[in-house]
Amino acid sequence: MIPYLSYDEPLFRPPSEAYSLIFQVTLGCSWNRCAFCEMYTSKKFSVKKETDVFKEIEAFREYSSDIRKVFLADGNAFVLSFERLSRILDKLHESFPKLNRVSAYALPKDILSKSDKELKTLSDKGLKLLYVGIESGDDELLPRIHKGETFESSFEALIKARKAGIKLSVMILNGLGGKKYSEQHAINSAKVVNAIQPEYLSTLVLSFPYGMDHFKKRFEGEFKELSKTELILEMGNFINHLQLESTIFRSDHASNYLILKGILNRDKGELLRRISQVLQDPSHANLRPEWMRGL
Ligand code: SF4
Repeated sequence: MIPYLSYDEPLFRPPSEAYSLIFQVTLGCSWNRCAFCEMYTSKKFSVKKETDVFKEIEAFREYSSDIRKVFLADGNAFVLSFERLSRILDKLHESFPKLNRVSAYALPKDILSKSDKELKTLSDKGLKLLYVGIESGDDELLPRIHKGETFESSFEALIKARKAGIKLSVMILNGLGGKKYSEQHAINSAKVVNAIQPEYLSTLVLSFPYGMDHFKKRFEGEFKELSKTELILEMGNFINHLQLESTIFRSDHASNYLILKGILNRDKGELLRRISQVLQDPSHANLRPEWMRGL
């Protein structure tokens, strides 16, 4: 029988962790202030007891020693101290001999709070991939959405993680600045991604699960939502400014109207051609209908 994991709902994971075993080592998000994010607003951030985490790992060890991928939840599990993460990684490796990747969500500040040596140790112990929602590289927009990070902090943190041998998956939020900040959001987001050269890049579209008025109250300043066409135009602008060596790009999250995939910059021309076709004739573009966006 599969051991029971007592998940504290809601539980989120990146799409690419669909086949990973998930251990919740923290609950909620330690920041929990981003204007656009309702993922963990129902939870008060806390660190799960280490003995409880270890019991769950042990229960799974009895069930299967074949586990290869583990995702540490919740929101920013990488906020845990170096010592705590280190002990969890040791426990995972001792329990699952075939384990080849442990990953987690992280904030730039979580990375910067650890020394180069600590990051290298975590990487050597199997922490191989961090998912970081940069959202934007625009320093005028970032404080308006209360991200608590800047172009520089994201850049510095992610380069630091990379030097330690940790791979990076970064997310940018299409439409985040509305009409007023669209252009600078696209250009500066491309700049920060270029500076980082992540292994993986994805874009999601800004959504309003609690309605537009709720978001507007949390956004610092004037916000006017982009139309579908303007969202796609902003994507074109963003991709046009990307200068990447070999980044796997995905714009296929449920929130996206237009599904785009490729390796950048190799497929940049093709992606821009597709966007241009859609902008010329949106009625034939096969855009994801509202009811399929699952938001
Ligand atoms: S840091 Fe991430 S999980 Fe936390 S509030 Fe911001 S977007 Fe949401």
